Amino acid sequence: MNFSLRVSIVGDNAGRSRELKLVRYLHSGVESYGFLINDEVVGLPVLSKVLRHPFPLNLERLISLGVEGATAAEELMRISPEDVRREASLRVGDVTLLAPVLSPPKIICLGLNYRDHAEEAGAKIPKNLIIFMKPRTAIVGPNESIVYPSFVKKLDYEAELAVVMGRRGKNIPVSDVEKHVFGYTAFNDVSARDIQFGDKQWTRGKSFDTFAPMGPCITLAKQIPNPNNLWMRTRVNGEVRQNSSTRNMVFSVYEVVHQLSRVMTLEPGDVIATGTPAGVAAFMKPHPRYLSPGDMVEVEIEKIGTLRNAVAKESQN
Ligand code: MG
Repeated sequence: MNFSLRVSIVGDNAGRSRELKLVRYLHSGVESYGFLINDEVVGLPVLSKVLRHPFPLNLERLISLGVEGATAAEELMRISPEDVRREASLRVGDVTLLAPVLSPPKIICLGLNYRDHAEEAGAKIPKNLIIFMKPRTAIVGPNESIVYPSFVKKLDYEAELAVVMGRRGKNIPVSDVEKHVFGYTAFNDVSARDIQFGDKQWTRGKSFDTFAPMGPCITLAKQIPNPNNLWMRTRVNGEVRQNSSTRNMVFSVYEVVHQLSRVMTLEPGDVIATGTPAGVAAFMKPHPRYLSPGDMVEVEIEKIGTLRNAVAKESQN
């Protein structure tokens, strides 16, 4: 029995997603991970225990096994009898989804990597990658708050497709990049524009705690054979602000990974946020429409899903 047939047995309705999506979650105070299939999560450590099938106990370890890890996860699902899989399943509403990568070795971000965004910013199309890095302390998961720092005046969002690396590499040829990518997730490159534009150097304005929401899942790389043909949207309080496609990237996903690997060794778990399209608050006409406490920001990317984060005022404690 192949996997797609098994998924259909779970109760998949027409039009619902069938991508293989890995999530990290908390249930009854215990962290675990598994596949998200429609409204259920299937815990892979539970499956492996019941089936006495050796398997990584956490998602970081699985990611470090790269493409082989992704294949092993599929295989574990494939060999699981229906009753065991049901036993290992939880309703997604009964768990707390966590950021799929909590402590990546690096978070590398691309600046001005969309033609439509460079145009709205009045910037030239870059000839080389423009990169900066975020600290891992900025990461939050789905449904966690983006904390609006007390001394920031212009808070903005940036929907981005993020690559999760699965294999160490330096000088990776474009033709080999596919073998190094574990999967893809949605990322919000939250930015304090007053600080970013004032400093010129972008790190301070983009590195506050909670300025790197990511999730809700990692879609396995083999499910996205062409990462440069995915639609993406941002909604703020339900209003569409960004509506574009990864087709509009200046440097394609594989080119980005190749070029970055000429600079630095890429490692399993590294997250590469590949830039944002047009529609950020800073360049809205007739005037910017920045985020405020209480706003709900949703970043949705085809084949991945929707990352939701509310904006909260910083507590003055
Ligand atoms: Mg960005």
